[in-house]
Amino acid sequence: MIRAIENKVTIGDCVGICTYCGQKAGWLSDVHTACIEKAEFGIAAINNVVMDAVTTGKTYDEISAAIKSISAQNAVPQDKVVLSIKDGWSKAAVEKGVKQPVSDDELSIALDVFKKAGITSEEMVSTAGFRQMAFSCILWRVLHDQMTPYEGPITFNLHRDEIPVFGMANVLLSEERKTSSYEGTYGGATIRIGNGLYYHLGGVQGHRVQSNVVQEVDYGDFLMTTEAVYFGGTEHGINFRIPYAHIVRFNPFKDAVGICKDGSKQQTFAPQQHNDCGWFLFNVLQALSTRTNGRNAHYAGNPK
Ligand SMILES: [Zn+2]
Repeated sequence: MIRAIENKVTIGDCVGICTYCGQKAGWLSDVHTACIEKAEFGIAAINNVVMDAVTTGKTYDEISAAIKSISAQNAVPQDKVVLSIKDGWSKAAVEKGVKQPVSDDELSIALDVFKKAGITSEEMVSTAGFRQMAFSCILWRVLHDQMTPYEGPITFNLHRDEIPVFGMANVLLSEERKTSSYEGTYGGATIRIGNGLYYHLGGVQGHRVQSNVVQEVDYGDFLMTTEAVYFGGTEHGINFRIPYAHIVRFNPFKDAVGICKDGSKQQTFAPQQHNDCGWFLFNVLQALSTRTNGRNAHYAGNPK
């Protein structure tokens, strides 16, 4: 008799309620396998819808009904819907941002896709997609002569009429051990955009700065302006300004940009807090220097 009651209590405690459909899930379980599979299917479908929207420039209004019906039909928990939107957005944004510069209008449509889904920019700002889209839009503005002055902290004394374009802290400055012999090559296409050229650095994306040919010189602040590049070292006090007129060429790396001054060793600038931003630095510098020096700027390698 006592044993029977104990069993009854135990059985009742061990039957869980499925977190997906809200029905009894069975012995020692709080989910149905079929419910998990259905939700996973829905999560992947939402991911695809969001990726497609970012890639093709659809607005949130064009996809909201699809997201709602997919999540309802597959009983996708709301927190997983949000994660799927964030993930899909960032993945597609990385590709869109690098593929070619995005305009302010394109950026605002893309940002609305997650904002209207109830996700804030603060939640997205640390994603790779958000960063690449922001870089892409800064580049678009430079190529279309619609620059907005950089609003971050500036630790340099700029010349009169010089406009700060973009700055980064914690940039590693390295120098080649001997006079520059590195030849940058492009694997991608060159597209004419606005008043300049956009180098799509397909083949360079995998090329990292090799540490055996460079020595680290200093860490510090890096600033690109309409006239020059600035570096201010915080470890060893190396400070300098290089006007674009003194630069022979820029070399693109996956994670850095190389700058070759006339008759000097190549210096590479590798932002430590931004991965994979070599395409951005190279293109912005190329555009700024072309703009300043006229059409006689030197390019690294031959665009294929
Ligand atoms: Zn269930």
